[in-house]
Amino acid sequence: MSDVVLCGSLSRHAVTLGADMHEAGYAALGLRWRYVPFEIGEADLPGALAGMRALGIRGFGVSMPFKLTILPFLDALAPVAARIGAANTVVHDPNGRLVGHNTDWQGGVSALRECLEPAGKTILLLGAGGAARALAFGFTEAGARVVVCNRTSAKAEALADAVGAESRAWADRVDLADIDAVVNATSQGMVGADGGSPLPPSALSPKLVVMDAVYAPLETALVRAARAAGATTVTGERMLLHQAARQFELYTEREAPLDAMDAALRPHLATS
Ligand code: NAP
Repeated sequence: MSDVVLCGSLSRHAVTLGADMHEAGYAALGLRWRYVPFEIGEADLPGALAGMRALGIRGFGVSMPFKLTILPFLDALAPVAARIGAANTVVHDPNGRLVGHNTDWQGGVSALRECLEPAGKTILLLGAGGAARALAFGFTEAGARVVVCNRTSAKAEALADAVGAESRAWADRVDLADIDAVVNATSQGMVGADGGSPLPPSALSPKLVVMDAVYAPLETALVRAARAAGATTVTGERMLLHQAARQFELYTEREAPLDAMDAALRPHLATS
């Protein structure tokens, strides 16, 4: 058998960001692996997975909406991916099974851990969409007390119930007296969305760690305000990098060369 192994991604709009990170990792470890971003429509999903089986493609990263719609086509789901109800990674195992994993939650936890160990801490999680769902599971799994807060409060309550967390009214997100870390998993601040900050500058203080899942741009209004207030900040590319590193490890069963992958990510990031 050839020592050339193929991985890739399935998305509606293919970008080279993941490919550059993974291929930098392969090069750093001297692996003759390749990573191809495939652009597909919803109707192509069963065919893409049949191709994965037939061609022996080792792994696919998947983005929305495939994180949800891929589930019925997989042979098994890793336990945490099953609890989250979404898979961002498919591993073609040596027995020919396609197994779904979720590395978004690990990416978020590893990113926060660069500044704060979540165990025993109280985290205010803003948002209740796909990213927030993975992070809510991740932070509770890591032993944090998680308080979910979302503009549409019913979604915050449903997510909190699903993970055994608490919820808080959106209007009360500014009261951070009992909070160690704030994590923005809303799309507010993202390029093309509302460019404002989900928290007013007056709510921020030096005792907080403020992490933003938004990575385009890197310097969101929230991150800028948090820095100005003296808070410790974690920008969105750290989660992106760590979730890719966990994918790399699932595919190659080798420790991800984080520095090489980080260097490959940098040119893709816009600061403002
Ligand atoms: P999503 O499922 O569409 O959820 C969007 C969330 O943002 C919802 O909770 C929504 O609240 C809230 N929201 C949108 N506009 C808002 C506003 N103006 N004010 C307050 N809340 C607002 O999106 P997603 O997939 O979770 O992604 C969210 C963000 O995370 C995106 O910027 C995405 O790029 C980023 N992300 C980053 C990573 C990473 O690795 N760094 C990974 C995944 C996602 P309602 O429920 O009230 O509508």
